[in-house]
Amino acid sequence: MNYDVIIIGAGPGGIFSAYELIQKKPELNIAVFEAGHPLSKRRCPIDGVKVKSCIGCKSCSIMSGFGGAGAFSDGKYNITNDFGGTLYEYIGKKRALELMRYVDDINMAYGGQGTKLYSTAGSKFKKECIQHDLHLLDASVRHLGTDINYVVLENLYAYLKDKVQFFFDTPVETVEVIDGGYAVITKDEGFTCEKCIISVGRSGSKWMESVCRDLSILTKSNRVDIGVRVELPAEVFSHLTDELYESKIVYRTQKYGDRVRTFCMNPKGAVVNENTNGIITVNGHSYEDPARQTENTNFALLVAKHFSEPFKDSNGYGESIARLSNMLGGGVIVQRFGDLIRGRRSTPSRIEESFVTPTLNATPGDLSLVLPKRILDGIIEMIYALDKVAPGTANDDTLLYGVEVKFYNMEVAVNSQLQTRYPGLYIIGDGSGITHSLSHASASGVHVARDIVGE
Ligand SMILES: Cc1cc2nc3c(=O)[nH]c(=O)nc-3n(C[C@H](O)[C@H](O)[C@H](O)COP(=O)(O)OP(=O)(O)OC[C@H]3O[C@@H](n4cnc5c(N)ncnc54)[C@H](O)[C@@H]3O)c2cc1C
Repeated sequence: MNYDVIIIGAGPGGIFSAYELIQKKPELNIAVFEAGHPLSKRRCPIDGVKVKSCIGCKSCSIMSGFGGAGAFSDGKYNITNDFGGTLYEYIGKKRALELMRYVDDINMAYGGQGTKLYSTAGSKFKKECIQHDLHLLDASVRHLGTDINYVVLENLYAYLKDKVQFFFDTPVETVEVIDGGYAVITKDEGFTCEKCIISVGRSGSKWMESVCRDLSILTKSNRVDIGVRVELPAEVFSHLTDELYESKIVYRTQKYGDRVRTFCMNPKGAVVNENTNGIITVNGHSYEDPARQTENTNFALLVAKHFSEPFKDSNGYGESIARLSNMLGGGVIVQRFGDLIRGRRSTPSRIEESFVTPTLNATPGDLSLVLPKRILDGIIEMIYALDKVAPGTANDDTLLYGVEVKFYNMEVAVNSQLQTRYPGLYIIGDGSGITHSLSHASASGVHVARDIVGE
């Protein structure tokens, strides 16, 4: 065998498996194959001046490379079983939380020290939310911020680079079962290993499906979350964000009984494009450094769509809606809330006259031409509900960017060790469909590393 362990994907899942393997058994011969660039070469060409929107790079620097999809994220590590994945269903709630805390300790040791840990425990907002039928979920949130998150990744890479062999810009094409292990095939070469950890995240979702098909690993169709990113003056949510940083609030609509939730809150942050398989959607982030902060706060409002038989392609449904917005707007569409409820499109002049200055250069348009009525109705109802705990949310100038889609990978069949039906072949992180967050993906990496070293 060329290696004891091959890890496919250098996102948080892959990084933390490598880190833990080295900690526990430094003599292991480990290789990491990553489709994207090393951290230092990851650069999105959008500069807002020469390149204003996504040009569809071969390897998207936002989603791929050392650090994975999380590299330029807001670095919010949510330590909770209430959201961010269902890892606890496989490894138990106690162990999941323990591992998430362990990951937090490592992040603190590698540059995150001094960053703030927020908590909903004992918050007065829980009561205030409930009084308006809004439900605040429990969590501790470590906010590294985009800048410190990058520093932590730099430090982790500096620690790992001489102990693990990294192959960047090397997408794995296939994984084959061989006698005593696995063959990992890239465009130019094949490598063998005794154990293989697949951690390819969302950007590797289509590839993951093909691996599961080839190796007859069972998968089940998941869900897709569709919605918008809301941007408003930071003051509107400051009472919540100052205390909690991120508040995950869930609301059940009166009209359809659908659940709408806030997601990925970025106080004083910026709205950004996200490219998933060539489709431009919207996301957000914020910096810890006050000099890089904006005057706006952004967060997503998402409605989860679960499909029943015979329809299986939930991600395809989300992609089609995102494609529609790309077709109408050439990318992401932005609309003032006031324009949306008056049934008119936003125009460049209406956006210019708005009191809220957009942080993303998106095309003014009409989201009602893109989002299904049921989803849009839910989002509007949620905005009015939020207006009761954060007055100003339903102001005319509140900006809505669309569409935000949260794609979920197919959930793969793995056991409590996150091992497939093939001994020594593990599937972890967002690529497994089990995790959807930095902390859960990282914890899943630690979990399999400990299994490999026999702990
Ligand atoms: C803009 C943005 C902001 C976010 N903010 C947050 C946040 O604040 N908090 C939070 O909890 N979550 C956040 N997320 C989600 C979070 O980044 C992911 O949940 C997390 O990165 C998942 O880790 P992972 O290791 O499973 O996968 P990923 O981070 O997606 O890493 C997978 C890696 O595998 C590589 N890969 C894919 N296919 C192959 C292949 N065939 N061969 C080799 N390599 C391959 C990819 O290039 C990628 O680098 C954010 C995501 C985005 C895009």
